[in-house]
Amino acid sequence: MAHAFIALGANLGDARTTVLQAIHDLGQLPETTLWSHSSLYRSAPVDANGPDFINAVAEIATSLSPQALLAVLQTLEHNAGRQRPYRNAPRTLDLDILLYDDVTLDTPTLVIPHPRMLIRAFVLLPLAEIAPDRVSSAQLQAVSLQAIERWRE
Ligand code: AMP
Repeated sequence: MAHAFIALGANLGDARTTVLQAIHDLGQLPETTLWSHSSLYRSAPVDANGPDFINAVAEIATSLSPQALLAVLQTLEHNAGRQRPYRNAPRTLDLDILLYDDVTLDTPTLVIPHPRMLIRAFVLLPLAEIAPDRVSSAQLQAVSLQAIERWRE
């Protein structure tokens, strides 16, 4: 079984419910166990407009290959998008593979580690929460000016 870290984000509709449901759904994927997940975070959009995002990172153990994992994640994204009430509604859920064991991959459809994970506080903070050995203090320092907070009920 490989261990993979998945970044979850949503900023449309009931984003908190969408992210919590997606964390649950990760554990229902074939050949996959949900290992752990971070708290929810709220972040200002980066390179995007609109409402704040709800973000989290989950760790899964999976026998799916990286490409097969990407395919099932895209199905989850698609299913979440289909729940939007109007045609061509924006995507409500973004799922990215951050890390897959220590695999490095650079194909037209899949790059691992995720190429932008180190510039995004909304990835690094929740990742550091559940896998502190995967994020250095220098990496956290580099994104420390980005607006993000742990979600409080
Ligand atoms: P986005 O619109 O940011 O969700 O990007 C989706 C596209 O990024 C998909 O078509 C994937 O093929 C591609 N992609 C490349 N690397 C990754 C990755 N590590 N995780 C998820 N999607 C990826």
